[in-house]
Amino acid sequence: MTLRALTDADIDVLSRMIGEDAVAVDERSLNRASGDHLADPAYRRRPACVVRPSSSEQVGELLRWANRESVAVTTRGAGSGLAAGCVPDAGGLVLEMKRLKQIVEIDPIDRVAVVEAGVVTGALDRALEPYGLFFAGYPMSSAVSQIGGNIATNAGGGRAVKYGVTGRHVLSVEVVTGDGEHRVFGGRRRKDVVGYDLRSLMIGSEGTLGVIVGATLSLLPRPKAYCSLLVGFDTPRAAIEVMSEAMRSSGALFSAVEVMDEYCMELGATTRRTVPPLVAPWSVLFEADGSDEREAASLIETTASMCSHASGTMLGPDQGEQREQWWAIRESIPWALKRQSSFQGVEDISLPISRLTPVLERMREIAATHRLSTPTFGHLGDGNMHIHPMIAGDAADGVDAEEWKRRERAFLGQFYPIIADAGGTISGEHGVGGKRTGDLDLMLGGEYRRLLRGVKQVFDPNGILNPGKAI
Ligand SMILES: Cc1cc2nc3c(=O)[nH]c(=O)nc-3n(C[C@H](O)[C@H](O)[C@H](O)COP(=O)(O)OP(=O)(O)OC[C@H]3O[C@@H](n4cnc5c(N)ncnc54)[C@H](O)[C@@H]3O)c2cc1C
Repeated sequence: MTLRALTDADIDVLSRMIGEDAVAVDERSLNRASGDHLADPAYRRRPACVVRPSSSEQVGELLRWANRESVAVTTRGAGSGLAAGCVPDAGGLVLEMKRLKQIVEIDPIDRVAVVEAGVVTGALDRALEPYGLFFAGYPMSSAVSQIGGNIATNAGGGRAVKYGVTGRHVLSVEVVTGDGEHRVFGGRRRKDVVGYDLRSLMIGSEGTLGVIVGATLSLLPRPKAYCSLLVGFDTPRAAIEVMSEAMRSSGALFSAVEVMDEYCMELGATTRRTVPPLVAPWSVLFEADGSDEREAASLIETTASMCSHASGTMLGPDQGEQREQWWAIRESIPWALKRQSSFQGVEDISLPISRLTPVLERMREIAATHRLSTPTFGHLGDGNMHIHPMIAGDAADGVDAEEWKRRERAFLGQFYPIIADAGGTISGEHGVGGKRTGDLDLMLGGEYRRLLRGVKQVFDPNGILNPGKAI
């Protein structure tokens, strides 16, 4: 189906449909809706118009119209994505979800929250605190990211090593599919094996099968205490060995194991106007949680005693201010990296942790041949690393966008097959978006992709939803 451009007459129709104040064509709105959090301007595209529905009924009306009129619709949550998923590559309209922001219900008996898709993750967390509950499937962009965006990307995050990713905590999703039909997959129940699991199909579908308008989320008792340890290692392998041994010997899981290379530690500390708490090739932030301080401290003390026998520098255990400062440094890294250069990619590899170290070593060798620096940080506990291949500072003198793209492509052309050979994948949590579709055959193969296209045809028969993305 060929999609058509929006006309002024269409904008009038949309304004009558959902209200003039819900349809924006001003510079600021169109600019904001042109990109996500990637620094590279190659991943920007202006929509013809931004629509801001305030109910699932309005989303239904909009999609029925767009489906009839063959107009592309790209759904946008907070735009904190890092895969160009919410970029309107096919033009058309961007559907912003921020007005669907109601927390409909929090039920402490069923331990569920019923929310609209535009609820900001951090706002939900604050609302749950008085109930002694929390939603464990959140990414580290929780200050801005929306629940709908988290579900659409099946976001992971800092605490996935213990609690798993977003999808594990979603009991039902309410979607409007590409034909404008309103559907609910799953329900307010923890076990259900009746029929195919279409709820799971929607999770991670990156806005290509339906617009998520609401969800029922499963909640967990909120941990009452946290304890952290910051340790310097020469290699990720050394940290992984400590991590695995500490968990096996204590019979408990870390709630987070985060890593940053020396460059990222320095950058994060500078951003927080402080000095790096320790200097090492790899700094690893171990964290455990529990129902009281003793429980949280137990696994961390085991880890500390293992690390004190090794050569690395170590800070902590700490349950107070230092811990908060380490986390502040870690959390500032992606925001700070974005400011370093626009000649920059964001890679999101995920591998069996046993295979991570040689892949990272090889990655650095390849990057050096293309004169790219590769700041690296991420969720070591899950084997999910974020690498920002980059040309920054003096190295960027005389480099133009074409040269950057040529070097980035050459690097990825060598790096991605190594990840595939090691049993990994090219995106652990950010998604395929518009950034990685060209590399999908390497990961999935042609037959798998044909199956995916068949699935899309069922839910979005005219291909209006996020065309060209994810599959
Ligand atoms: C500082 C920082 C830290 C981050 N940390 C993490 C992390 O720890 N883990 C992680 O997984 N990611 C992380 N991310 C990436 C990103 O924040 C997450 O993917 C987040 O879940 C995206 O949510 P969003 O609302 O911003 O979605 P957007 O960026 O707006 O959209 C992302 C994708 O979801 C689709 N989408 C959005 N809302 C809907 C909806 N209601 N219905 C259907 N489709 C929809 C879009 O079309 C797009 O394809 C981080 C990003 C930043 C900038």
